[in-house]
Amino acid sequence: APAAAGPDSPPAVELDGVSKVYGGTPAVEDVDLAVREGEFFTLVGPSGCGKTTTLRLIAGFESPTAGTIRFGGEVVSGIPPEDRNIGVVFQNYALFPHMTVGENVGYGLRFQDPPGGGSTEDRIAELLDLVDLPDAADRDPNTLSGGQKQRVALARALAPGPEVLLLDEPMSALDARLRERLRVQVKAIQRELEITTIYVTHDQEEALAISDRVAVMRAGTAEQIAPPREIYRRPSSRFVASFIGDNNVLEGRVRAIEKGKRKAGTACVAVIDVDDAAFRLETTETITAGDRATICVRPEALRIDGGTSRLTGTVESVEFLGETTRVQLGWNDREIILRTPDPLSGAVTVGFDPEDAHLVAVER
Ligand code: ATP
Repeated sequence: APAAAGPDSPPAVELDGVSKVYGGTPAVEDVDLAVREGEFFTLVGPSGCGKTTTLRLIAGFESPTAGTIRFGGEVVSGIPPEDRNIGVVFQNYALFPHMTVGENVGYGLRFQDPPGGGSTEDRIAELLDLVDLPDAADRDPNTLSGGQKQRVALARALAPGPEVLLLDEPMSALDARLRERLRVQVKAIQRELEITTIYVTHDQEEALAISDRVAVMRAGTAEQIAPPREIYRRPSSRFVASFIGDNNVLEGRVRAIEKGKRKAGTACVAVIDVDDAAFRLETTETITAGDRATICVRPEALRIDGGTSRLTGTVESVEFLGETTRVQLGWNDREIILRTPDPLSGAVTVGFDPEDAHLVAVER
């Protein structure tokens, strides 16, 4: 059994300058990341950004063109997937159709004793309990729903007691309601087992909901690696700000620094001219009058007739979403998104406070 993780223990999985080039084109480029023991770590990004390739490199289905991958501090290059002590679940269930559910779950135990020393039958029953399919052992997998098949696939991946679980879009073939239910179950199972998990999805909402930390990938690189709240509230680039949820990303020029000394780590309020408006934002970044600044304001931070930084736009579209309404305002040539309980029309003034805006990027 692995030693308990301490603050000094090496990361469970570590990528150090990892690249993968296919025919001259990099699919993954110089990625550094370190997944802690017991962590739920998600790779998220648009189609083709290199998520699956990164996961396949970790699994050992591909070998890196450059860089090093370590498991528990040990370099794993040359070690085939079956010897990496991983469990893998893919998007397309890939259960063996000619075997029962129980036989599927026991597949990884054919040549190996179950962890913990019990019988294979007990282990299968234990895993089917874990994924909430206690009576399914004798069933034909073809008679299961998509969500049930993915739970069986998860049980099969976990049966040999892997140290690392790798999940590649395991829910993307399921409908939205089922996906939300399954992700709660997957998260609960991961917590219970405290198993290091690396998850791939293109769905930013899923990534935020399920993860301890998220790596937002773009064109083969990891653009930001941080906990979900930080990714959401403090995106480190325009790309992350736009990819993760609705966001108002605005570019302007710093007119003045209003409050506070520009000392590293202390907050100041910057006045930023965006078109004919002056927006105030609080930041601890180094920022000077004349800089070009990219800022973002989340739709839920915009308050009607509230806030100190205001703009007046015209309602262009209103979408009723149940608990909230998503309103699109036209302001100059820009599009401003807000969320409000009330239906709106015509001219609307919205505003935000300095602490609700985030400085995404600054250029001298
Ligand atoms: P998706 O969400 O669409 O699966 P992804 O983020 O998982 O995308 P990858 O599948 O890792 O992206 O692909 C990254 C890039 O590498 C893409 O441009 C893809 O075409 C390319 N690529 C991936 N596998 C191979 C391969 N075996 N041969 C050549 N090119 C490949």
